[in-house]
Amino acid sequence: MSLIVQKFGGSSVADAESIKRVAKRIVETRKAGNDVVVAVSAMGDTTDELIDLAHEVTPIPDAREMDMLLTTGERISMALLAMAIKSMGHDARSYTGSQAGMITDDRHGSARIVDVTPGRVREALDEGAIAIVAGFQGFNRTSKDITTLGRGGSDTTAVALAAALGADVCEIYTDVDGVFTADPRVVPQARKLERLTSEEMLELAAAGAKVLYIRAVEYARRHGVTLHVRSSFNNNEGTLVLPAEHDQEGDRVEEPIITGVAGDLNEAKVTVVGVPDVPGKAAEIFTIVAKTGANIDMIVQNVSAAATGLTDISFTLPKAEGEKVMTALTVEKEAAGFESLQYDDQIGKLAVVGAGMRTSAGVSAQLFTALSEAGINIEMISTSEIRISVVTRADQLQHAMRIVHTAFGLDADEVAVVHGGTGR
Ligand code: ADP
Ligand code: ASP
Ligand code: MG
Repeated sequence: MSLIVQKFGGSSVADAESIKRVAKRIVETRKAGNDVVVAVSAMGDTTDELIDLAHEVTPIPDAREMDMLLTTGERISMALLAMAIKSMGHDARSYTGSQAGMITDDRHGSARIVDVTPGRVREALDEGAIAIVAGFQGFNRTSKDITTLGRGGSDTTAVALAAALGADVCEIYTDVDGVFTADPRVVPQARKLERLTSEEMLELAAAGAKVLYIRAVEYARRHGVTLHVRSSFNNNEGTLVLPAEHDQEGDRVEEPIITGVAGDLNEAKVTVVGVPDVPGKAAEIFTIVAKTGANIDMIVQNVSAAATGLTDISFTLPKAEGEKVMTALTVEKEAAGFESLQYDDQIGKLAVVGAGMRTSAGVSAQLFTALSEAGINIEMISTSEIRISVVTRADQLQHAMRIVHTAFGLDADEVAVVHGGTGR
């Protein structure tokens, strides 16, 4: 008997009909002789709607109460799903994150899992029931408060359960057929990948491919969990995301150098103008930034002008963290000795990712040529071993993604199907 963890995203349980469809699918898996544990997201755009509602009440909602509010979304879907399964004559029990033993730190809104104690889930399985767990939520032992794992966090719930229970596979059901070479909503000619390494998936997720939540991919890699991303709307095979040890370089020689293209419109650029070009200044500036807890990404420092001995440093960060970083830097302006600050939230970040880049020369040249032929200006560049990222104007990003997808020969003959969801 296998143990399968299945995660259903919001668009897969958007209404009563979808919940019944998903229940049928879960029951089929059970009937095939498997133990089944389900992690479920809130219905449709519930989480976004709850966030909007909170902001109608107050501009800066309290973090603890926000988590209380948002976790209700998953409580609704888990109960409805368990009811639907029961009505089909199978035993099912729903559990909140804390009942399922998802223990986290106390960072409201982006808590990290520190322990998983799924005793009740195990008990349910032992008694022949299907366990349904509310995704995206946990519990902190010290504060005794409910936490959330960050947007898209139901993926992490599923992976953490799969790891703790020693599941054979963790299936992530969503509104597209798997992981594609680019977001099919942006690049219609995107191609479904049969498989990729968790390392490549991490880079794609970090670059904005929200089909999997980055922390879930990280967790899966660390615990050796194989992910199968597939559609809840059909029975097609999806995409396998394999922990590195399963990846055999030898199998990949025929594969393209680029695995995928991703885009991100949620970042902004901060430029610190007129920084004295002396040792220790970058350290000083980035210590101020680090104290805000902001997650910065690309960093570019220009050559200083000989006449002034001053340079500019630019970096990117999530828009949501822009305000606190600008405030912190403004407060320290005199002490740090720079001239001024600029903030630009009209940027787009494009990344090409592929393990094949390690052994291929000329990928950057090919990328920059494709962009220049399309008249798209590159404002920043950064690279890792298997990724090249560039910053463009926000309104050029989607066009740039399509151009680059074509330039690297990734276009499929057919147009990709998106089964549901609003893309929100
Ligand atoms: P769920 O609600 O099931 O968690 P998400 O909306 O979080 O679904 O993720 C699925 C969406 O991710 C797809 O509808 C698609 O628009 C988007 N996406 C972005 N990049 C990719 C990619 N490379 N492959 C597949 N989907 C992608
Ligand atoms: N409902 C949460 C969100 O929308 C978690 C998830 O769907 O993964 O972010
Ligand atoms: Mg998701």
